[in-house]
Amino acid sequence: MLAKKAIKTQKRWEQTQEKREEDKKITVDHLLKKQDSKVGKNSRLKSSKKEIYMFSYVNNRDMVGLSVPASYSFPMEVQGERGVPAARLCGAPGCRNPRRYSCSRTGVSLCSLQCYKVNLAAHKMLQEAA
Ligand SMILES: [Zn+2]
Repeated sequence: MLAKKAIKTQKRWEQTQEKREEDKKITVDHLLKKQDSKVGKNSRLKSSKKEIYMFSYVNNRDMVGLSVPASYSFPMEVQGERGVPAARLCGAPGCRNPRRYSCSRTGVSLCSLQCYKVNLAAHKMLQEAA
């Protein structure tokens, strides 16, 4: 009777162990799968980040050409010269010379010491009038 019970207990213990092993296997598999999917996601992210525009120039016996990314319009747009910025002129009254510096007091564009004085005088007059 006791022996039978012992065997039963032994069997139950074995079954429990087996079940545990199975659970472990499933958990490990699950974790491995999870990691796999994570790696896959990461590599996908990286690949999307690495979407660099690739231009390649081909010059061989068969052809000479330039391959551009599909998202790029070809032939390329012609870019015109950028306009030269309008020359800034002296801001002193009655003077049309090109600007050479700006007044440290009024910030007005100036070309010469003479214009500096004229500008300053004009500024003073305006301030006094105000
Ligand atoms: Zn001037």
